[in-house]
Amino acid sequence: MNFSVTILGSGAALPTKNRMPSAQYVNCNGRHFLIDCAEGTQIQLRKYKINFQKISHIFISHLHGDHYFGLVGLLSTMNLLGRDKELTVYGPNELEALIKPMLQFGGSRLSFNIHFVKLDMNGETTIYEDEIVEVHSFPMAHKIPTCGFLIKEKPKPLKIDPHKIKEYDLKIEHFKALQNARDIILESGEKYKYQELTLPPQKALSYAYCSDTKKSLAISKNITRATVLYHEATFLIKDQKRANSTTHSTTKDAAEIAIDAKVEKLVVGHISSRYKTNEEHLKELKEIFSNSEVAEDGMCIDLTKV
Ligand SMILES: [Zn+2]
Repeated sequence: MNFSVTILGSGAALPTKNRMPSAQYVNCNGRHFLIDCAEGTQIQLRKYKINFQKISHIFISHLHGDHYFGLVGLLSTMNLLGRDKELTVYGPNELEALIKPMLQFGGSRLSFNIHFVKLDMNGETTIYEDEIVEVHSFPMAHKIPTCGFLIKEKPKPLKIDPHKIKEYDLKIEHFKALQNARDIILESGEKYKYQELTLPPQKALSYAYCSDTKKSLAISKNITRATVLYHEATFLIKDQKRANSTTHSTTKDAAEIAIDAKVEKLVVGHISSRYKTNEEHLKELKEIFSNSEVAEDGMCIDLTKV
C-alpha cells in the first residue's frame, strides 16, 4: 500500500529561491497524478527524483499562471524524451485552447496523445475512477473559476481472521466471498456468516487539495474526514484584509476549515513570499488545529502514517 504526496511547489504567485509555485505529485497505490503544474515543475520533478513519464493524469485547478505556466514545458520535455503513453489533462474550459497552439506553432508533432477533459467548475464531479481509487473535483471560492480535488481510496475488502479460519478448508472463492462481505457454504454443507470469519477492513485514505480559495464552509462537505487536507494559507492573520481582497485564506481560515471538515491532518501551502520563515504560520495554525504543518518544497506526506 502506498499513498504519498510530494510537494513540488509550496509558494504563491511567483517562484523564489525558497519556494516554487503550486505543483504536487501524488502516488496513490501506483496511480501517478500531478496536481497543478506551475513554472519550474519539471525541474522540481527531477530534483526530487520523480519519473515524470509515469504521470498519467494531470489536474489543473485554475488558470492563474502560478498553477499552470509549467504545463507546456513539461509536455514538451515528455515529447522530447519519446513518451508514447497517453496523458489525460483535466482543467478549466479554456485550458486546451491555451495549450494546444503553443505546442502546434513549434511545428513538431507530439509522440503521444493528450486527452483534455473540461472540469465542471460549478459542482462536485467524479473525474477519475478505477477499481481502487477515485478522484473528485469540486468548486472553490476564488477570483476566477477554480476546482479543488479529492483523491480517495475506495472502501477496502474485509480482512480474513487467520485464527478463525484455521480449522476450515477454505477455497479461493470462499476467501473472495468473505472479503466482499458475503456468507459462505463449505463443501460439507456448513454455512458461515462473513462476520464470523472476518475483521474490519483497513481504513480507506483520502487526500484533499484546496488551493486557491478564500475561506468557504461549503467546501467542507466535499472533503469531510479526509486523512490529509492541503489548504492554502497564503497569509497570516494580521494580513486578513489582504486575504479577503485577493480571495485567499489565512492560517486561521485554513485551520477552521480543517475543524469544520473533521480532517485528521492539515498541511498549509501557497505561502506568500513576504514571509521569510514558517514559524508564525505554524504557531497560528497549532493554536486552532494542533495536527498542522506548513508545506515546504520537497516535503513528502505519507498518508499511510498519518
Ligand atoms: Zn489563484
